[in-house]
Order: sequence, then C-alpha cells, then structure tokens
Amino acid sequence: MHPPSIFNNILGPVMRGPSSSHTAAAVRIGRLGRRLLSEEPVYARFTFDPRGSVATTYRGQGSAMGLAAGLLGMDIADKDLLKAEELCSRKGLKIEYRIEKFSDAHPNIYNTYLKGASGKEVSFMAISTGGGNVRLTRLNNEPVDDDLDYINPLMPVRLKRDPVLPFKNINELVKLLEQKGGALSDYAVRYETAIGDVSEEDALILARSYMFIMREAINDGLAGTSYEDRLLPRQSHLFSQAPEKGQLIPASLANTIIRSVTAVMEVKSAMGLIVAAPTAGSCGTLPGVLLPSAEAACRTENEIMKALLAAGMVGIFIANECGFAAEEGGCQYECGSASGMAAAALVELMGGDGQMSLNAASMALQNTLGMICDPVADRVEVPCLGKNIMAALNALAAANMTIAGYDHVIPLDEVIKAMKEVGDDMNLKYRCTCKGGLSTTPTARRIHKDLSSSDKEVE
Ligand code: SF4
Repeated sequence: MHPPSIFNNILGPVMRGPSSSHTAAAVRIGRLGRRLLSEEPVYARFTFDPRGSVATTYRGQGSAMGLAAGLLGMDIADKDLLKAEELCSRKGLKIEYRIEKFSDAHPNIYNTYLKGASGKEVSFMAISTGGGNVRLTRLNNEPVDDDLDYINPLMPVRLKRDPVLPFKNINELVKLLEQKGGALSDYAVRYETAIGDVSEEDALILARSYMFIMREAINDGLAGTSYEDRLLPRQSHLFSQAPEKGQLIPASLANTIIRSVTAVMEVKSAMGLIVAAPTAGSCGTLPGVLLPSAEAACRTENEIMKALLAAGMVGIFIANECGFAAEEGGCQYECGSASGMAAAALVELMGGDGQMSLNAASMALQNTLGMICDPVADRVEVPCLGKNIMAALNALAAANMTIAGYDHVIPLDEVIKAMKEVGDDMNLKYRCTCKGGLSTTPTARRIHKDLSSSDKEVE
C-alpha cells in the first residue's frame, strides 16, 4: 500500500455529509465506478455484507446519497449532494441495494456492479478505510495489487510512485528530532513533499484553505443551522447566551471550545461544508480547540497553518498503524485520533518542538483508548457531539500538561500500537454497527423507530 498523504488521508476531505467513511468515501466509490465504466451508468447494484457496518448504516450515515452523487460525477463538497438520489431517478439511473454475505469480508466493503448505456459492465470491490479514504481491492473479479492509478484522480494530492520517505516511522523521526531539532510541521512538510507532487508552498496553501473552511464552519454554526433530518436541535447558541446570565462555571477558553466544537458538528449535521480531520464524525475536535486557543493566545494565521501540519503528521502515524475507521476500531480511531492530532497541534501553536508535540499526542491518545462507536439511530450526532467535546478538552489538557513539563511515560509509537490491539479486540457490536452500547438502549431504539417511520412517510 502507498504511504498516506497528509492532505489526501488525514486533513480533509473538505466535504458535506454526516460521515466521511460512509458519505465521502461513498461519493468517491461512485466516482471510481463511473471512471471504471467510462460511460454514463444506467444501472448500479451495491451489495453489502450483513456482518459489516454499511448494511445497517447505508441510509442513516449517507452512503446511499454519496453513491448516487458519485455515480453522477458530483464532488464530495457539492451543495446538491442531498438531491443526488432524486437526480439519479430523474436521469433514469436505477440503483439497487442488496444485503448478502460474500467472501471478501470487511466491515466497510462495497461490492459494486455497474452497467452503462451501451450495455458495458464493470464489477469491483472497494473498501472505505476511514476519513473518506478508499481502496480498490478487486476489479472484474481479479484482485488489484496497486490501485494508485485508479485512486489518484479522486484525491487532492497526486501521489508519487515509489516515493523516498524522509523517515519511515516515529522512531526514525524521533532520531532526526534528537539530531536536528525543529518543529513537527517542518517534518510534516518534508514528508508531504516527498510522497506527493506538491511543493512546500502548495502544502502551506492547502493548510491555509483548510484553516479558512474550519473557521467558516465555526462561524456558520454559531450563526445558526437548520436541517430537518437530525436528532439534535441547534444548541451552540445556548453557550453564547448562558454566560450573560451568569449560569456557567467560569472556564472561559474551555467554554469557547465547547461552543466551537458544537458549532462545527451542527454544520456537519446540516450538510454544511466541513474539513474531516481526520473524519467527518470527529470534525469538531481539531478546529474547535485549535482556533479558539489560537485566538486566546494571539497566534498568527501562519502559526495556525503550521499547527494543522503538525496535527497531520501525527495522523500519518496513526493511519499507518490503525486507520480511522470506527468500523475497525471504534471511536478511539476517530475522536481519539482527532484528540491526539489536536494535542500535537496545540503544542506546535505554542512554540513547542517536535518531540513535545509527539509527547502531547501520546498523552491525549492514552486517555481515549477503548472508546467505542455506538451512534444513536444511525446518526453521527449522539454521542458523537459529546465525544468531540471530550476529545477537544482532552487535547487542551494534554498540550498544557506537556508544555508544563508533565511526563507522558509511554512513547507515542507504543500508544498507537496499543490502540490497534484494543481495536482488534473490540467486539463488532461496538464498531459502528449500531448493535451495542448506547445504540441499543430503549431510548435509542425508540428514536430509531420514530425516525424510520417518518422516513417511510416521506417516501
Ligand atoms: S461514536 Fe465516534 S466513531 Fe462512532 S459515529 Fe460517533 S463520532 Fe463516529
């Protein structure tokens, strides 16, 4: 497998929709199918294994909408994403879904068959590996060993074949930091320019554009969002009003962080534009803690951009070991990873060196091991909002503890390996299948039933 890229696989995609591993990845799988067919599809069939996550969540978490959008050639940030299924039926593109067991088992696998207007057919299997990332594993029943040529056009950074990496793992990076010092963002830029066709300037431009989208998401959320099909009402404004009434426990920055994380999550739930960092489900954590902290500490835009790159570097190491798919390792892979990345970013923001950023990431991740994924009623809202807030405040604590000189004890590479071990042992029912934890509480069942019957009424 090709090494991951910061802008392809860790920060981003810039997207709409509830879930990067379901909505954004599904758009990419639809677009991939369109490319492979190389003509307008008239029929599409997606088969999901009942043992996996997509079989139970493909409606609630936006896979069906994403696949339809991708088959139409839409982008993952397209504002018409919501209308994609309707546009498909207007165009005469018939889409069917089947739930059947098949041999290539993976919790997030899309077994796809497409037929074009001329009668041309293509079948393929693609896996959503978390954070909107996609891997092609089979094409017309033949295994695919190297999917770079198929996946490259779907991503913002064109990857080099056989790149020469400046360091292969955390230990090699730590040695470089011991010899030469420097900030984590310096090494993030070296890494990204080594694996992709991007210059240092390109990397900073991308980081800058993501920073603006993150800031806009906070502003949009605070301005107010509305969207019918969501569990939680607009709530971020409550955190703006409460201090005036003297109701909140004084915790100025922490309260601003809670409000900002909520705002971004509300934008996500209202199909607004967000940066998945590393996933849509965890999209509130990094911007929600980084931007208010930067404002409170009077940091420049340049410093924020570098902090984002530092976050991306930590994400690369997590992606190499675990990936970000909650279907594989629970919410520790999503919000846990976001927390570790954010802790490293905050240390960089405050002028800490690369080793300190790694230590802060270790500390934050240690606190999130074992976090399960158990969304209520298939929606990425409850307990996702609370987990993002916890992840953001955990990052703040880990960063300040590191800057103050606390000992993180376990090195980051060992913590990430432990997270993988916990993920591998996690029962399937706690891995985004809605079959355990909060998902199966009586209240969650009732909410799910109510939503399903209102969906039927709409149909
Ligand atoms: S519980 Fe965590 S991993 Fe699961 S859907 Fe919510 S944010 Fe994503």
